[in-house]
Amino acid sequence: MIMDSIGDAAIVVIGGGGVGCGVVHSLCQAGKTDVLLLEKNEALASETTSQAAGLVGQVRTSVDRVRLAMWSVKTFSEMEADPEAKPGWRQVGSLRIALTDERVAEFERMKLTADEAGLKTAFISADEARAKWPMFDFSPAKSVLWCPSDGYLQPNDLAMAYAHRARLAGARLATGVTVEGIRTEYGRVVGVDTNRGAIACDTVINAAGAHAWHVAQMVCLDLPIFPVRHEYFVSVDADGMNPDLPVMRVPDASLYLRAEINGLLLGGWEPESLSLKPDDFKNGKKTPHIEEDWEVMGWFIEKIAPLYSRAADLGVRSIFKGWPTFVPDGRFIVGESRQLGGFVMAGGCNAHGVSGSAGIGRHVVESMLESEPSDYVRSLSPDRFLDTDWEATEAQASAKRIYETYYGLGS
Ligand SMILES: Cc1cc2nc3c(=O)[nH]c(=O)nc-3n(C[C@H](O)[C@H](O)[C@H](O)COP(=O)(O)OP(=O)(O)OC[C@H]3O[C@@H](n4cnc5c(N)ncnc54)[C@H](O)[C@@H]3O)c2cc1C
Repeated sequence: MIMDSIGDAAIVVIGGGGVGCGVVHSLCQAGKTDVLLLEKNEALASETTSQAAGLVGQVRTSVDRVRLAMWSVKTFSEMEADPEAKPGWRQVGSLRIALTDERVAEFERMKLTADEAGLKTAFISADEARAKWPMFDFSPAKSVLWCPSDGYLQPNDLAMAYAHRARLAGARLATGVTVEGIRTEYGRVVGVDTNRGAIACDTVINAAGAHAWHVAQMVCLDLPIFPVRHEYFVSVDADGMNPDLPVMRVPDASLYLRAEINGLLLGGWEPESLSLKPDDFKNGKKTPHIEEDWEVMGWFIEKIAPLYSRAADLGVRSIFKGWPTFVPDGRFIVGESRQLGGFVMAGGCNAHGVSGSAGIGRHVVESMLESEPSDYVRSLSPDRFLDTDWEATEAQASAKRIYETYYGLGS
């Protein structure tokens, strides 16, 4: 049935968060504009993406992963130059602080990986770091790795900018539309059922964030995608804070931080995380409410004290929180499943779906349009889980471990 108000499309993208909007943008860039994005909420980017800190880091442990992040940064820089819709991208650079000898060795390996990928980084002295972040005490630092092209953006603005550019190219984005089922015939996707009727399509892209498990279940594909709670706070204004300060990561303390206007944004990866089984909540509904966890905020403040003791005196202005998804091997799930033609994944973001969104979009396009996608893109296929028997409790424990060791050595 053709819907009066929405109409059919060659490609339906389910989910209007940073990833779904980024995928539509990438499809349009590749000349695929008969695309319809469906978002169940009344506004785009109103679930996990709205809570993200917007950090964009390119220093990673594999060349492919560095290149994916570099593609995102290139895209954000181009988008920021467009006066009509900007993602709020600030290329302020980033400092990565090592407090242990093992971490120094890891930074050296990461620098070699960055060099191989063509990403500029440099080791700088504590004095040079202090010149960039004057309120911090860098004396405990054993090494500081500087990446000048890193930065941060405003996740909502990014989603809106993707959407704006995609609409100009001819894509359609509809809100208030919940996908309730996926139609298949002879081993291929042929459409979706929504609260506003059926829509015919050849391809469905699952970018449903914490609901990606539910959407995959609609076609009987079982994927180990587990929401894990994540939080950070923004303080009241603090002396010396300004939006041009670099982003900072202190992996030995499991912390990240940046300035949010004139306040401190401080978050991290607590050692005992809280996760959900995906069947704890339903398709079409919001993810469970999260109460602010002041103990975790206190833990962040305690861990940053050796570098910034004044954090303890700052009042908290707001706490941001959500359920980013984690998978047992900590890697994105991207591409079409061999088990069902026309069913494509764009999820399992392991808490870097905003920074990764442009790169994920590019890889989704590569998986769909290239006859020979790269080894890396093929390695992200959902089939790596669909071809094996995984056990839910074990998989959830592994996904939680990915969160808890987010800044673990070599992760
Ligand atoms: C506190 C916090 C801080 C973070 N900081 C960062 C950071 O600094 N950098 C970074 O890169 N990442 C960060 N993340 C992670 C990042 O937010 C996620 O990886 C990213 O937002 C995932 O985007 P998404 O589009 O997959 O999910 P979402 O933003 O959750 O979007 C999925 C959308 O799908 C819709 N949907 C679901 N089911 C259906 C359906 N059946 N029909 C129609 N629509 C549906 C939902 O309503 C939702 O809008 C952070 C996360 C949190 C919680």
